[in-house]
Amino acid sequence: MTVILDGKLLADKITQNLKKKTSGLKVKPKLAVILAGDNPASLIYVRNKQKRAEEIGFETLFLPMPKDVSEENLLENIYILNEMKEVNAILVQLPLPSHINKFSVIEAIAPEKDVDCFNSINVGKLLCGYSPYVPPCTPKGIIRLFDNYNIELEGKNVLVIGRSNIVGKPLSVMFQARNATVTAAHSKTKNLKEIALNSDIIVSAAGCANLVTADFVKEGAVVVDVGINRVNDRLRGDVDFENVAPKTSYITPVPGGVGPMTIAMLMENTLELYQIQNHN
Ligand code: NDP
Repeated sequence: MTVILDGKLLADKITQNLKKKTSGLKVKPKLAVILAGDNPASLIYVRNKQKRAEEIGFETLFLPMPKDVSEENLLENIYILNEMKEVNAILVQLPLPSHINKFSVIEAIAPEKDVDCFNSINVGKLLCGYSPYVPPCTPKGIIRLFDNYNIELEGKNVLVIGRSNIVGKPLSVMFQARNATVTAAHSKTKNLKEIALNSDIIVSAAGCANLVTADFVKEGAVVVDVGINRVNDRLRGDVDFENVAPKTSYITPVPGGVGPMTIAMLMENTLELYQIQNHN
């Protein structure tokens, strides 16, 4: 029987728990979100994050910037946020306009306020097996889903499709830390189907609709779909859910799987950074 990994349900539980913890705080955690440009999808993501933070009782600081904002101006704002004692967490919504050097921006975020583990100091710690201030939101949310459904990772063959700095790479590292045997695939991988058929767990974070089809998946595998694709005005993942689901033991839906977990982990990370900065 296939079990649907209900990210929305788990995210709602986590949110309620965060709300309870926050209600007892005199000074509320504060999340600052920078959005440069007018990418419609980014605007929706940022609004959803801000709405969820306010529901929990966090304070938010939203800094929209025009698409022609200079890199200097953007960096200046990050330096100011780094210095503001009341700001505990900083998120720069990606992608940035093409004239801005993403890496300069990421490196400018103070590591102790880096809510999505972008900064190389935090990434380096993750890679070395020390704790970063907080782990990256999407990989953390995926691991939390596995833990919540008691899905064993140790000794499992795991295929991670995608090697981006924010999803694929850190997720591969975090799975290895749980003693899984990880294959990190990307657009130049030649024998993806063969690797997939040999995998106990497949996580697709490619942003490519219908990449994972039923003939890629062995009976009883676990499939996690990170992808967000717009197909004929509908939101689709990377996985052909209808045909893949019957073969799996566990599978995430899109929407309602990884997406809500990412936002819940962003909120959890905001509270954790607040606690670290306030020594409690
Ligand atoms: P990127 O575009 O940065 O990375 C995509 C990765 O997938 C790259 O490593 C690329 O390979 C690989 N890839 C692309 N096409 C294929 C293919 N046909 N076969 C194998 N590998 C392929 O994306 P992100 O990591 O930022 O995001 C991935 C997807 O996840 C997107 O749809 C995004 O919207 C979604 N997302 C969802 C989140 C959520 O909360 N649900 C959070 C973050 C992202 P190469 O390196 O060779 O180019």
